[in-house]
Amino acid sequence: CGIVGYIGKRNSQEILIEGLKKLEYRGYDSAGVAVFTSEGLKVKKAKGRLAVLESELDKKPLEGNAGIGHTRWATHGKPSDVNSHPHTDNSQKFSVVHNGIIENYLTLKEELIAKGHVFVSETDTEVIAHLISSLYDGDIVIAVREAVKRMRGAFALGVLTEYEPDRLVAVRLASPLIIGVGEGENFIGSDIPAILEHTRNVYILNDGEMAVLTRDGVELMTIEGNFISREIFHVDWDI
Ligand code: GLU
Repeated sequence: CGIVGYIGKRNSQEILIEGLKKLEYRGYDSAGVAVFTSEGLKVKKAKGRLAVLESELDKKPLEGNAGIGHTRWATHGKPSDVNSHPHTDNSQKFSVVHNGIIENYLTLKEELIAKGHVFVSETDTEVIAHLISSLYDGDIVIAVREAVKRMRGAFALGVLTEYEPDRLVAVRLASPLIIGVGEGENFIGSDIPAILEHTRNVYILNDGEMAVLTRDGVELMTIEGNFISREIFHVDWDI
């Protein structure tokens, strides 16, 4: 029910956890993060309060300066460690956080199973990670765009792939998502409070829009791939 993401030069774990805390008001039953570490894209997730995830991360921190985080409000599959987000594909090279519902996930899941994909969770979200991985041909933006065209429902997504550690892709369709613009670092969040500690410069994504974040910039485009130019929204209030 809440998404955060970071790409920059600082250690991402704490930024993700603190951002998720700001989204706790939205309600959740589990939480998780994925971080680009020196050993690749690593996921830690757990059923229960953020404190459960935090204590696991305290024992074994994930170090790296890009990552995505999620608090889940289960719609498909009970609250459990394995159903928590982020979800990955079988290669573990792709990682996805998702708010919302994929209505046609069963059809997509059957197609992917027929192609040899093996699913570990009961969620609609896991299908997204497998779909993106199956469509990937060297450009994560194209893979996400092609995947989204096949998905029906409501979603806000944050996507990372180990193949392109300098990019974080976000998409919005009928679930809120904003982009925080920093200096040498950029953010995504379900809501402005998640990132307000770090920047007051924000792009509000509209339905059917994507954002591609690097450390040094943000590109906005429609799901069809048309670039969008938008004024930065300056947040002049505090939480
Ligand atoms: N439908 C997804 C799930 O059940 C996402 C739920 C959410 O928005 O947190 O895992």
